[in-house]
Amino acid sequence: MLILGGTREARRLAAVLVDRPGLHVTSSLAGRVRTPSLPPGEVRIGGFGGVDGLAGWLRDKAVDAVVDATHPFAARMSANAAAATARAGVALLVLRRPGWTAGPGDDWRWADTLPEAAALLPSLGERIFLTTGRQDLASFADLDLWFLVRSVDAPEPPAPQRMHVLLDRGPFTVDGERTLLREHRIDVLVTKDSGGDMTAAKLVAARELGIPVVIQSRPPLPAGVTVVPTVAAAADWVVRHP
Ligand code: NAP
Repeated sequence: MLILGGTREARRLAAVLVDRPGLHVTSSLAGRVRTPSLPPGEVRIGGFGGVDGLAGWLRDKAVDAVVDATHPFAARMSANAAAATARAGVALLVLRRPGWTAGPGDDWRWADTLPEAAALLPSLGERIFLTTGRQDLASFADLDLWFLVRSVDAPEPPAPQRMHVLLDRGPFTVDGERTLLREHRIDVLVTKDSGGDMTAAKLVAARELGIPVVIQSRPPLPAGVTVVPTVAAAADWVVRHP
């Protein structure tokens, strides 16, 4: 079986399945991060070459089942996985952690796209904490605001003129996030609706400090796919799969 990875859930699923008799598990990473957190077991790194490439790979390796455990915003990979498994006649399960929901005291504004998120910022404040990843800074490049940008690897241009980069990866704590928001006198937090608890502490800290959050909605999943929210449910599906 093939796990499409790049998330903590994908690594955990590989850990649960790797020693199971009768299963041969390969995890796949895109290769975006210079020093990735690797799952246990066999790992391949790099794109497959679109739907054709992935469908060919599934046939060549005689894959029986694919679990798409990519990040909720890895929409192209998820679309390719749905198309390639359908073409190759291979079973597909999507493992997707639930998104975040606002609670009492949260001041969240939803945006469908990052340009939409960027358009909201000038009316909300001057000092912005941007946690949408290093690949997505172009939408903010023309804004005359100050940005604290946190990403795993250094961002590449186009990027905002006035920006301080913090290279770090989760999990983060509420104490740490509160300190960061205070030290940098942040007015607004910008995030994707990634979900999960690895990076949720910033939302708690923003609520405590009364800081508004601009949050990008998830892209839709491909039509007709079966989705489960937990590693346990995905492992169960794999084990039961004929
Ligand atoms: P994407 O835009 O959906 O995919 C772009 C291309 O990258 C795909 O067409 C595929 O290339 C390749 N790719 C993506 N995930 C792959 C995987 N697991 N194994 C092999 N190839 C993969 O993807 P993305 O948003 O750039 O995300 C890339 C990776 O980072 C994913 O593994 C994802 O789980 C992880 N990640 C993404 C985010 C995010 O915010 N987007 C956050 C955290 C982690 P080919 O067409 O050549 O096969």
